[in-house]
Amino acid sequence: MSDCLFCKIVEGAIPAKMVFDDEHCIAFRDINPQAPTHVLIVPRKHIATLNDLGDADEALVGHLHLVASRLAKAEGLTGYRTLFNTNREAGQTVFHIHLHLLGGRAFAWPPG
Ligand code: 5GP
Ligand code: ZN
Repeated sequence: MSDCLFCKIVEGAIPAKMVFDDEHCIAFRDINPQAPTHVLIVPRKHIATLNDLGDADEALVGHLHLVASRLAKAEGLTGYRTLFNTNREAGQTVFHIHLHLLGGRAFAWPPG
């Protein structure tokens, strides 16, 4: 998608503080971190929201979580939070799915 911010980061057209990449996804530090560690794990494939996943994306979504757990370990995190925001009511602002990995502080529940 030519007008998608995260597609442009995937393509390298916009820089980001990369922490990981493989054939399926990239991971980079959030530009406006909400915790000492705030990494976004982003599939290379453009998918706008979780509602746009197809059956063929099942393994991809699992992979994003596996990468999150490995990055959490690499960041030295024991407790951490992972989440997808879906649509504007939940706070989604970039319509290319991304798994947030947040850690390094305590988190409240229920979330705001
Ligand atoms: P959402 O609100 O869609 O769940 O998450 C989008 C995230 O992307 C936000 O946490 C926001 O700070 C981050 N973000 C937006 N633009 C950029 C950017 O250009 N670079 C990076 N690294 N993060 C961004
Ligand atoms: Zn995209």
